[in-house]
Amino acid sequence: MPLSRPITIVTHPHCLAHDTGGGEHPETPGRLTALLARLQASPLRDRLTMVEPRKAERRWLTTFHDEHYLFRLEECALSGKTHLDHPDNQLCFDSYEAALLSAGAGLTGIDLLEGEENLVFCAVRPPGHHAESNLALGFCFLNNCVLAARYWQQQYGRRKILVIDFDAHHGNGIQSAFEEDPEVFYLSLHEHPTFSFPGSGYAEETGTGPGRGATLNIPLPPGADDQMVLNAWSKRVEPALAAFAPERIIVAAGFDAHRDDDMSGLAYSTEIYGKFGEYLAGWADQFCQGKLLSILEGGYHLESLADSAATYLTALSNHNNITKSRHPGESRGPEELPGAKDTGSESQQGLAYLRPTPE
Ligand SMILES: [Zn+2]
Repeated sequence: MPLSRPITIVTHPHCLAHDTGGGEHPETPGRLTALLARLQASPLRDRLTMVEPRKAERRWLTTFHDEHYLFRLEECALSGKTHLDHPDNQLCFDSYEAALLSAGAGLTGIDLLEGEENLVFCAVRPPGHHAESNLALGFCFLNNCVLAARYWQQQYGRRKILVIDFDAHHGNGIQSAFEEDPEVFYLSLHEHPTFSFPGSGYAEETGTGPGRGATLNIPLPPGADDQMVLNAWSKRVEPALAAFAPERIIVAAGFDAHRDDDMSGLAYSTEIYGKFGEYLAGWADQFCQGKLLSILEGGYHLESLADSAATYLTALSNHNNITKSRHPGESRGPEELPGAKDTGSESQQGLAYLRPTPE
């Protein structure tokens, strides 16, 4: 039995106390329950260490969020209001603390990664990638990935950070944070904004000012499947990443592009998340001494979320074995990606229907 690499899961029971108002809302505590139960029932179980996060301190929250917004969020939760900024963003009394713990998970994870650990997955909610500096959006209150990137830079002096986002939706908040910043590369694969929430993430959005060229949006048409995303991965993602050569990688790990998840029109299989895991672990080995931080974003079909996350983490854990079974020390070229072949113009495929409501 080959040895596989251990994974640290950063999670906290209080993330379950973030109540979004009952069964009508897709961002439920059951998402985490299903994901964690699936991990505990999988062969991965023996390789997992569970760690509780600290709450993100104010000084780290304000590396992105406005003070006024933070007071508004806290007041909204503690005063018994049911949503912030839009009815999508349901919250309860416990939501502020849950949001602090979710944001803190990335920070705790980075502390571990700067020590002995190599692979950290933050199984937390509420998610974060839609949250703006002064606005709650798309079930997100604090931008967990943005705060993690700032922490890595300012606490540990890591300058070049890649944030790669394979959630079905564009991470508008991550892009906003870093669009002028040449040291944080934001790379997102998502359903085309013409058809999908939040309506940003066009290919033309490539960063501004000194950050021009450090944002890469790869919109995929509704119906895009494994073949199409692998094609984009080999042709667009791999060259961009190789050119940027990050010191550290943060993954905005959303699983709502799965074909069973009706939150997007994308149609990935469960297995594609294993490919993502394999490739990301390879990049981490090549550029980042194996260090990789993943933070849960979306994923609303409970069974697919659980299976996809388990598949992703299994691939991360097994990556050493995969590498050894190839040629030790040899980096992978884009042409080697299985299933990677030209499927024609992405923009002209699968645009047969409009999705009426994004979230
Ligand atoms: Zn999403």
